Amino acid sequence: MPFRQRTQIKRFIHKSFSRLGQAKGYFDLKKSQWLARPKLKKIQEKKLRNIIKHAYNNVEYYHALFKSLNLHPTDVKNVDDLCKIPILTRLQIQKDPEKIIAHDADRKRCITSRTSGSTGRPLVLTFDDDALINRGSRSLRHFFESGCHLNDKIVRFTSPSRSLRSRTHTPWFNQLGFLRRKHLSVLDKIDNNISSLLAYSPDVIEGYPSTLWLIANTVQDKQIEGINPRIVCCTAELLPQDVRKKINSAFEVELFDQYGSVEFGTFAWECQEHNGYHMDIESVVVEFLRNGENVSPEEKGEIVVSGLFNLAMPLIRYSLGDIGRFSTERCSCGRGLPLMKIIDGRTDDFLVLPSGTIISPRNINLLEYVDGIAAYRIVQKERDKLEVQVVADSGFSPETISRTRDRILRGCLGEDIEINVEIVDEIPRDISGKMRSVVSEVKKTSTTQSG
Ligand SMILES: [Zn+2]
Repeated sequence: MPFRQRTQIKRFIHKSFSRLGQAKGYFDLKKSQWLARPKLKKIQEKKLRNIIKHAYNNVEYYHALFKSLNLHPTDVKNVDDLCKIPILTRLQIQKDPEKIIAHDADRKRCITSRTSGSTGRPLVLTFDDDALINRGSRSLRHFFESGCHLNDKIVRFTSPSRSLRSRTHTPWFNQLGFLRRKHLSVLDKIDNNISSLLAYSPDVIEGYPSTLWLIANTVQDKQIEGINPRIVCCTAELLPQDVRKKINSAFEVELFDQYGSVEFGTFAWECQEHNGYHMDIESVVVEFLRNGENVSPEEKGEIVVSGLFNLAMPLIRYSLGDIGRFSTERCSCGRGLPLMKIIDGRTDDFLVLPSGTIISPRNINLLEYVDGIAAYRIVQKERDKLEVQVVADSGFSPETISRTRDRILRGCLGEDIEINVEIVDEIPRDISGKMRSVVSEVKKTSTTQSG
């Protein structure tokens, strides 16, 4: 049998096992969400002890850290003991990701993903099979618990690389009419995306709040009829109240928000009662800190997460940079999963182009695919003038600058924009203390049209 064919069969078998694993994981999670809180905590802490022991034995960074603190894995028995371990930052991973990868990880079976989320700090992450299966199972739970059905037609707004992949690959279950998902690119013109929505007539729309806000705005302004999803799911960005209202009113729809990160996937989500975000505590530990100390329940603090699944690259007490609080409220749905509230998070600015078109920050926030960039920020000075501050890493070359320009110009829909790239030592934080990667200093007064 030719090598290519053998590889394809292997890939098919691997994918099938992975899908079966996701389905099994989903049925386990579907049940466990209703367990009593103490039982859920027991499951969580058992997994926590496992990952701490694994990290100590197999990950250079944690082994050295524990040794330097005279700490042994048996000293971390429960969530309260986690405070003995210092916080891990994105910068630490960026400096030397290899130190956080377990030496027993089977690299051939791992997936590496280069990403920046919305922080402007590209990062290379490694995920093993179990981590990906766990993510898949959790997203199935979020999906079905929002009231979505197996035979729903779904439109998902994604970055261009994902939408391209989906155009060339259709999973077998799609052909049977299950989880039919059409990917639309956030870089396409709003009018084109609206035409696709009208033609496909989805039951569910998933996407970034900034993208969905632009579509909702146009639908209302132009009084477009015929887009009638039953459910809209928002993810990956903070969802301000006015954006929620706009999407609700444009589509007359129930909106479900989800919270997560590229490192852990979605791990907190709204149920049909909308009392806050249920945390997936079978898969993560979420803490809320101020000045390095755990705050009391209901007090706001920096969100710090420990993942319980990814043995290839365990992230323990990893700071996400957002602000939230643990809610003591019991959700009226009766689930045992505790609630959190999100106070403040990653928010980038919309941009107004010279033609008056408004674009989502997602259109240009794609520099993680450009080699040589350790961190960046894009500042719009005038409608036709962008300044890109770049912290260079060892892979930086003159090509880095031309690729950065190309990427951004593509997102600006072919409009005539001057782009200046400046190399800096450090990206300063905003006055608010936040790290934003897309900032606009242009007033958006006379602009209503988009795409
Ligand atoms: Zn609930």
